[in-house]
Amino acid sequence: MMRIDILTLLPEAFTYLNYSILQRAQTAGLVDIHLHYLRDFATGRHRITDEPPFGGGGGMVLKPDPIFTAVENILQDHQVNDHPLTPSPPHPIILMTPQGRPFTQSIAQELAQHKRLLLICGRYEGVDERVRQRLVTDEISIGDYVLTGGELAAMVVVDAVVRLLPGALGAEGAAETDSHATGLLEGPHYTKPANFRGWEVPEVLRSGHAGQIARWRRQEALRRTWDRRPDLLLTAVLSEEDKWFLGQLAAGEA
Ligand code: SAM
Repeated sequence: MMRIDILTLLPEAFTYLNYSILQRAQTAGLVDIHLHYLRDFATGRHRITDEPPFGGGGGMVLKPDPIFTAVENILQDHQVNDHPLTPSPPHPIILMTPQGRPFTQSIAQELAQHKRLLLICGRYEGVDERVRQRLVTDEISIGDYVLTGGELAAMVVVDAVVRLLPGALGAEGAAETDSHATGLLEGPHYTKPANFRGWEVPEVLRSGHAGQIARWRRQEALRRTWDRRPDLLLTAVLSEEDKWFLGQLAAGEA
């Protein structure tokens, strides 16, 4: 079973994890998610977790001490070394930050291989730099925009990772054919009715021909990727037939 720890000042925000596939994955014992309230690790009568930045400037910064204490408590077996990468801590300690590496499906696949993850959610102006330099082993951004806190970003990462755990999707879908899993965007889907307001479902999907359906789906995935994200075609794994079809698209013949 995978274990995910999340350190946050806003544990209430995580109710999303209690529904649908994420909830079922927890009930089925595929993942064990623990929320930790950062204030519980702060000391003093007021349990202060943030202070104004040295040097002035607006906003507040999350103090290093409650974050270090929290991580050391959560990963009891992990002593924080002078530098966290030598030797590597046993589990990724991930800071959610708009300055991190841009989150992708392949990063989700990489994270899904670990037995345990720890995600740290920032707030205000972010966290004291020493957390980034001395504690975390990874920094992830969910996109080039700035959120109020790391909670939504952490939920995005947890959702994308948990649905990849074997058994998480059940009969609901196959993660292998999702957009980005294959390096391409997924093609269109249709369901009943076959004719909706005069708009027909493509004949091939109703033909019952598994081979033709698979070929059509592959070509529509290529078409969609060509139209919307041609950059993905530079790194996607393509067969000779795929390349021929892309040639047809380029010539305006498909
Ligand atoms: N002052 C910081 C900066 O310019 O890099 C932004 C701080 S942001 C207002 C507060 C917190 O939200 C961050 O510490 C981070 O945890 C989270 N956050 C904001 N945008 C994010 C993004 N795109 N991806 C991941 N986390 C994000």
